[in-house]
Amino acid sequence: MPSITGTTIRIEFRPELTSWRGKLLSGDPRGEQIHATSFLRKRLIVLDSELAQDWPELSRILVHELFHFAWVRLGNPIRLSYEDLLRGELKSRARGELGWSAEWRKKALRPTDVAERNRKWREYMAESFCDTAAFLYSECPHHDEYTLKSRWRQQRMRWFALLLEKRPIQL
Ligand SMILES: [Zn+2]
Repeated sequence: MPSITGTTIRIEFRPELTSWRGKLLSGDPRGEQIHATSFLRKRLIVLDSELAQDWPELSRILVHELFHFAWVRLGNPIRLSYEDLLRGELKSRARGELGWSAEWRKKALRPTDVAERNRKWREYMAESFCDTAAFLYSECPHHDEYTLKSRWRQQRMRWFALLLEKRPIQL
């Protein structure tokens, strides 16, 4: 587990979270159900209240959201290195991911998204980074969303050990 520094991030639980037209709703029938979301500038994480009953899942989702704050502060060299890692995986046709959030984006990627490094590719990279962190550092060792093969998991584990765990992670 790496050490972490940074200023306060507020965490709130709200019931029945949905995402509707880019907005976060609570207790409203509109939109798609979500577990959590982060507001990077407000330094706020909102979690669905139901997660409070399920520690392994709560820890997985919370680590994922916390690492969104880390991703934006990583700096370009480290982000580029993670990008190289993912490009290598795609070239080798590695299937699966370490969370649904990364996996559905990966499945929707087209070669032009990768070549142009457009928004879809950048969102996939961020989600993949956060899902990998959740896989490595949460207290949720088994999950049916961990679909990436062991060989690639090992490679990501080594990347995190080499590039992230040497100094405190800035949130
Ligand atoms: Zn995310």
